[in-house]
Amino acid sequence: MRITIVGLGTVGLANLAVLAADGAHEMVGYDKDAGRLAALMSGSYHFDEPAIKDIFASHKPLLTADEGLALRESEAFFIAVGTPSLADGRSDLTAFEEALAAIARHASKDAFVVIRSTVPVGTAERAISFLRGASERHFSVISMPEFLAEGSSWSDENMPARLVVGGSEEGIAFIRMLYGRQIAAGTPLIGMSNSSAELAKYAANAFLAMKISYINELARFAERKGADIEDVALALGADPRIGPAMLRPGIGFGGSCLPKDLASFLSQARDAREPLLLPQAAQRINKEQPRFFLRKMENSLGGLANRRIAVLGLAYKGGIDDIRDSLSLGFASSLLRRKAEAVCYDPSPLARADFRKALPKAIIADTLNECLAGADAAVILTDDHAFANLSEEKLVSLMKGRWLFDSRNLFPKGSFVRIAYVPLGRAPSGKP
Ligand code: NAD
Repeated sequence: MRITIVGLGTVGLANLAVLAADGAHEMVGYDKDAGRLAALMSGSYHFDEPAIKDIFASHKPLLTADEGLALRESEAFFIAVGTPSLADGRSDLTAFEEALAAIARHASKDAFVVIRSTVPVGTAERAISFLRGASERHFSVISMPEFLAEGSSWSDENMPARLVVGGSEEGIAFIRMLYGRQIAAGTPLIGMSNSSAELAKYAANAFLAMKISYINELARFAERKGADIEDVALALGADPRIGPAMLRPGIGFGGSCLPKDLASFLSQARDAREPLLLPQAAQRINKEQPRFFLRKMENSLGGLANRRIAVLGLAYKGGIDDIRDSLSLGFASSLLRRKAEAVCYDPSPLARADFRKALPKAIIADTLNECLAGADAAVILTDDHAFANLSEEKLVSLMKGRWLFDSRNLFPKGSFVRIAYVPLGRAPSGKP
């Protein structure tokens, strides 16, 4: 079977790699961004995940920016284009609608259309009506939301925790066939209607957002009452009804998915006049959390003006290259607005380069040592391994001041004596 993946971002590349690795189908990757395609074809594309790069090198799927060539002969299309936020929080479906129109224009056979982009509830039904009016072909539209996380996209895609599949019996049977290897290895396929599958994606992301915001809110309460949020999180996470994932406090959730999906979900709820109070609260807490941590710094240092602050962690989480909607951008901007000098560092060169473009007023350091040198204080914003290995000796020898603010609680109690260590939701230690 010839299968075309439309949109080769994080999701499209992971889908293409996993289906190509099976070797059972003729795989085609299509993206309208000619620059991205040229980089993919020349081997100069920056892959976050070596496993995906290896599959591309060994299986060589056809990659093209030629719409007709990509779409004409295929019997299945996977749509993995971006669905960013509009100013009012609604999903911008321009790229999705363009992809659908291109499929209707070029498809020469009856085909399956698998929606992997995150789209508002009801989008598949509208896609079915659109395709019926726009083409003579029969299309079976399948809603198959993507649950992969950046940083583990290959393993999440290759062996997903579950396959959520909305569509007709014919559509669900097609996915059962395509993902036979994963299902045989124990991945459950949960079949349902298109709209249930679409809702399941928003419900899952809102739940993760609520878990993060809950632990962040608890961290503030713990701090006020002299409790230790890490102990509280351990106790919570050990309950199998709760589970330990997403119970690590920080300055909040950023990235290309959680904030925009939450905003879209809330806008859908508003439109349906069925407000979602818990997700709404998660969004509010997430806005407040970076301000809370910044105030902590401001109070400890007696103001931020003219302070040189080493900002550690620019990607939206540790271990990845992506700065899209990273809270570090807003955090560094707030430092600058308070007339601090923000010297920013991330182990990822791509994250540093993108941050430099996004926030030209910040100084971007090329090494961790350069970032720390002469700083009055350092602040850890992501859980990157590079920061968890920081030693007191290094900090004392490089920095001018003696303050380490750690929003991710990377260090066990008592790790620092000669500097003031200020974690989140637990007692500070050491002294400046
Ligand atoms: P991305 O923005 O990284 O990539 C999208 C790609 O689609 C780009 O390369 C773009 O050039 C291409 N594109 C746009 N319009 C096109 C068109 N009409 N024809 C062909 N190509 C087109 O997006 P992403 O991060 O891979 O996310 C894709 C979708 O999956 C989004 O809806 C997102 O919410 C969802 N999702 C993302 C993740 C994630 O971790 N990134 C996880 C789960 C779900």
